[in-house]
Amino acid sequence: TRTPVNVTVTGAAGQIGYALLFRIASGQLLGADVPVRLRLLEIPQGLKAAEGTAMELDDCAFPLLRGIDITDDPNTAFDGANVALLVGARPRTKGMERGDLLEANGGIFKPQGKAINDHAADDVKVLVVGNPANTNALIAQAAAPDVPAERFTAMTRLDHNRALSQLAARTGVPVSEIRRLTIWGNHSATQYPDVFHAEIAGKNAAEVIDDQAWLADTFIPTVAKRGAAIIEARGASSAASAANAAIDHVHTWVNGTAEGDWTSMGIPSDGSYGVAEGLISSFPVTCKDGTYEIVQGLDVNEFSRTRIDASVKELEEEREAVRGLGLI
Ligand code: NDP
Repeated sequence: TRTPVNVTVTGAAGQIGYALLFRIASGQLLGADVPVRLRLLEIPQGLKAAEGTAMELDDCAFPLLRGIDITDDPNTAFDGANVALLVGARPRTKGMERGDLLEANGGIFKPQGKAINDHAADDVKVLVVGNPANTNALIAQAAAPDVPAERFTAMTRLDHNRALSQLAARTGVPVSEIRRLTIWGNHSATQYPDVFHAEIAGKNAAEVIDDQAWLADTFIPTVAKRGAAIIEARGASSAASAANAAIDHVHTWVNGTAEGDWTSMGIPSDGSYGVAEGLISSFPVTCKDGTYEIVQGLDVNEFSRTRIDASVKELEEEREAVRGLGLI
């Protein structure tokens, strides 16, 4: 029998946590033959609710679930962690300045990064979901100098999936026939969903759509503002789709991208495509054997360049701000 993989989830009692844990325990994160042990991290006020979720997890009698630990201590939560899903974060509240938000999140992600550094398994893979995800990932990474930098990633897969779905709806082609889409930049309103290298049923997506105005004025803002549209419609922020994207992100990272396709992940930049080195920015990546690589050699046209640059500029400003706060 295989040793269980330790999966740590922070903010486990939150909405996304509730949509995520059952799918991890059922085998959808790592594979139907991989036993898992769940480690749930919560703040003290969230512990009781996490215990309730753990009772429900027990009641599912998942054959792959080999244990659940619940704690409010990051050192315990990340002990031996192979996969760390950092979901819990400080949400922006009314009147909160960006600096305050970054500072509050620094107080969460810095100690978590240190705990990962000191206690996680050698092969730990980290996905940050809690916003501002890219910069929270940067903070955690900076606090974990002994962990290879590339193990810290931020989620742009939800944006990627949203873009796939919008293209499918527009063209009538199923999402399974759409490949090579890219989300560039920050997981924020400045993100840039790029269809110029994408293929729809084997043809260039931009040519199939053949409507630059739709791309600029409908597609891009619809993808970028989808989160707000869901809050407006549902009265609560997206949770199941965010959890689904987290599952997709880790599943692809561990099990690989399909031949001829790629995905989007927020990862530390190596300077590719003019993105300042070290920023955690979304790129087109291929995954294989538990590692990822940036897809190289894509032509970036003027339309794309302007938008990538704007999103990267925002990431640079966030990095400056957390530097100024002594968080990195
Ligand atoms: P959610 O589970 O709905 O969201 C958690 C985080 O995910 C938020 O930062 C949210 O950002 C972010 N997020 C990223 N992408 C999306 C998306 N597409 N849609 C929605 N959210 C997205 O929050 P809850 O308030 O329900 O739960 C948070 C839990 O975290 C609470 O139980 C709290 O106690 C816990 N917590 C735990 C900490 C810890 O373990 N140390 C620290 C802080 C909180 P955004 O706000 O921008 O939507």
